[in-house]
Amino acid sequence: MSGASAVGAPAEHLVRAVNVTKSFGSNEVLKGIDLTVDPGEVVCLLGPSGSGKTTFLRLINQMETLTGGRIWVGGELVGIEERGGRLHMRTDADIARQRSRIGMVFQRFNLFPHMTAIENVMEAPVQVKRLPKATVRQEAERLLDLVGLADRAGFYPSQLSGGQQQRVAIARALAMKPELMLFDEPTSALDPELVGEVLGVMRRLAEEGTTMIVVTHEMSFARGVADRVVFMDQGVVVEEGPPDAVLLHPREERTRTFLQRVK
Ligand code: ADP
Repeated sequence: MSGASAVGAPAEHLVRAVNVTKSFGSNEVLKGIDLTVDPGEVVCLLGPSGSGKTTFLRLINQMETLTGGRIWVGGELVGIEERGGRLHMRTDADIARQRSRIGMVFQRFNLFPHMTAIENVMEAPVQVKRLPKATVRQEAERLLDLVGLADRAGFYPSQLSGGQQQRVAIARALAMKPELMLFDEPTSALDPELVGEVLGVMRRLAEEGTTMIVVTHEMSFARGVADRVVFMDQGVVVEEGPPDAVLLHPREERTRTFLQRVK
């Protein structure tokens, strides 16, 4: 636990996972994951389907509860807290506060269908943060511009392509000014010709210093944008390191097999 007390985490890590396990019934899908992510880092999680990548993201964002181990985000333990020398479950309000520090983008775009693009982006800051509408609208316009959709603010999701919807979903997640962005296969539901525009937005966010954990099968994105790639298989981290090291010179047989299949 280098330099950390039992419940503290060194300030330099934005995310720290220690010996994380997760079971669904008798199915242990995460078998002791250790992972850190530093501020400004882009970490790509790679691995075969079913290796536990999505589950790991969902644990960070408290859409699932840990079976064992600990996760800290921004120095705070996720889901539990220490009071009077003992660990307590966090309240729902406190969990909501923790979750509001994290933005998540899913495979499916999950936009509110009855709201326009800009209303989707404004929803959480207005409803959750109770910020004045005029301020929120200004920021939402800036974010839609950032994702290249300034001219689509008044469109409904059904009037947008999949790539455009996903870019609105990214703007919506950014609207809460998260410290961390989680992407779960954000391009895998898109037609191939729409993948590039979404990856382009993510690349730009990375260049601006956004801390990101990205589950993806897009090897060129991982190679070009990630600071570190983490290869998972069957609930464990098999190997991790700089993209060129892991993707071009994998040490482990399981990584090699996977990379040959996705090429
Ligand atoms: P990946 O993202 O690497 O494809 P997942 O995290 O989605 O892997 O899934 C890992 C394993 O956990 C799979 O075997 C999946 O069936 C199982 N799993 C995921 N979520 C649930 C759930 N809510 N209930 C039961 N099993 C689940």
